[in-house]
Amino acid sequence: MEEDFASRLEQIENRIAAACARSGRGRDDVTLVGVSKTFPPEVVSEAIRAGVTVLGENRVQEALAKAPLCPSAEWHLIGPLQKNKVRHALSLFTTIHAVDSLDTLAALARVQRECGARPDVLLEVNVAEEASKHGFTAASVREALRAALDEGEVRLVGLMTIPPWAPDPEASRPHFRALRELRDALEREFSVSLPQLSMGMSGDFEVAIEEGATFVRVGTALFGHRNASAWKPERSADSDSYCYQP
Ligand SMILES: *Cc1c(COP(=O)(O)O)cnc(C)c1O
Repeated sequence: MEEDFASRLEQIENRIAAACARSGRGRDDVTLVGVSKTFPPEVVSEAIRAGVTVLGENRVQEALAKAPLCPSAEWHLIGPLQKNKVRHALSLFTTIHAVDSLDTLAALARVQRECGARPDVLLEVNVAEEASKHGFTAASVREALRAALDEGEVRLVGLMTIPPWAPDPEASRPHFRALRELRDALEREFSVSLPQLSMGMSGDFEVAIEEGATFVRVGTALFGHRNASAWKPERSADSDSYCYQP
């Protein structure tokens, strides 16, 4: 199993490096986020031992229960963040990829002041404007950015998107490009720096890198298929006392 993991990681590393080379980017410009959701701590621990340094989880409670059972690593929240989970999220995650409402931004600002944690935050944009997806529109993201800049507490570092599912990775390219162009426009309009673009998953991370991704969120290609008997924490970590311990 450990060898399997190491060889899958090596293949993904090679594909990332090739995509960086093709698009004139340095390998250091792109961070692999290993999406470990549903996998048990034993498997995630192997991933960390094999050299994955950043893990992505989409559920706050699952990650909080799993992280203490694994060697030390950096944990990113890639799924939606509800207002009532902000305190818990700030106790673990150093980067929050998918903030999608003004309410959550306000809650982050408030809890950050109490806890002293200042994670990097990305705004999720629904570039294809799919009705079924979370995320700001290209219009409403401006309102969010304005509010966050006026407020001044949340450290906004970039944008994230999940394009419509498609079997052909090339189908994602226009959405990735749209996210990059939106980022470029926002940087000009608001005179801010938004260096991070979180885009690309197992099926399309190379195209995402060609279009400027700085975080690729890779689950299946690294860990294998997620199954129904997903790992669940025995007791939910629901104490309200979490504050970030650097
Ligand atoms: C699960 C998930 C991924 C990983 O998807 P794979 O196709 O398994 O690589 C990436 N991003 C988000 C937001 C996810 O929820």
